[in-house]
Amino acid sequence: MSAFEWEKNIRKVVPYTPGEQPEERDIIKLNTNENPYGPSETLYKAMSELDSDSLRKYPNPAAHDLVKSLADYHGVSIDRVFVGVGSDDVLGMSFMTFFNSDREILFPDITYSFYPVWADMMRIPFKEIPLTEDFRINPDDFCRENGGIVIPNPNAPTAILMSREDIIRIIEASKDSVVIIDEAYIDFAPEGASVMDLTDKYDNLLVVRTFSKSRSLAGLRIGYAVGNPKLIKYLNDVKYSYNSYTMNEPSIILGKAVISDDEYFRETISRIVSIRERFTDELKELGFTVLPSSANFVFAAHPDISATDIFEAAKKEGIYFRHFNAPRINDYLRITIGKDEDMDRVITFLKDTYNL
Ligand SMILES: *Cc1c(COP(=O)(O)O)cnc(C)c1O
Repeated sequence: MSAFEWEKNIRKVVPYTPGEQPEERDIIKLNTNENPYGPSETLYKAMSELDSDSLRKYPNPAAHDLVKSLADYHGVSIDRVFVGVGSDDVLGMSFMTFFNSDREILFPDITYSFYPVWADMMRIPFKEIPLTEDFRINPDDFCRENGGIVIPNPNAPTAILMSREDIIRIIEASKDSVVIIDEAYIDFAPEGASVMDLTDKYDNLLVVRTFSKSRSLAGLRIGYAVGNPKLIKYLNDVKYSYNSYTMNEPSIILGKAVISDDEYFRETISRIVSIRERFTDELKELGFTVLPSSANFVFAAHPDISATDIFEAAKKEGIYFRHFNAPRINDYLRITIGKDEDMDRVITFLKDTYNL
């Protein structure tokens, strides 16, 4: 295809590839780390009470009600909370706001594949820091000159959790840049793993969370960040310079409703964690290597069967996993933790298909 004349002057990017969202209903969808349990009843109640006349007006640009309920939930002041359209929006805004030097930003070589995409699109120089042989983050490798740091904790797709001590080492060594810890999966990790409380102590630490996984709300698109009021102010300045009304009214109201039901939230998380532990044991019994997971998915490889083969065969059976065709991890499958019966189907499928 011949190029148009204007094509040489436009921004060309290689976009992020999300996991498939197949249309069929009768599938076992374990490819995008969604929560298998529905959102809290409080959401349905709030939905039925939504006043359609409220949609006539612009929403509160600061999404005040949602910010306030998150601030109360975490015991911080409202000037320390920023909300966005999923944590992808929050992270993208953060890249734009905080990663603005000529120095390279740092993130792991095996990590959330959106980071290099944003860096490329925003012309931010970056360096991918290799994980260790056993897929861990060595904090020392991040203690070097940088223009910013972003690390998911637990990391994705490895599911491995980094200790608070290691994160503190990195923050302490990077006082003149912003360190973003993407806690998309932290609710599935043991109590005390989050570093959100450290945003009080470290003015250069931003902690990002999402409603998409632990709060069963990927479809609504809500994410947020907690940090020093000055970080949050700079984020808001950029947001208001780009699109003031990112948060729509239903998201503000429904997000707030979901936060109010902590009991259901904790109950579904503990169910998912116990299914994860059982499923991990069963995979190991079938000969799989499974990385220690603190998330709602596992990263697993079989020594004798290729991940591509399993991925394709499972898909034919209506079971969807995620496979990354990338160096070092192409033997692995990322499998989201679904309900008990979903994971039973996976184990049966593996046993029957490969005589394990
Ligand atoms: C899922 C995910 C996100 C994005 O989630 P949103 O749906 O945009 O809130 C961000 N970071 C990591 C590591 C994720 O896995």
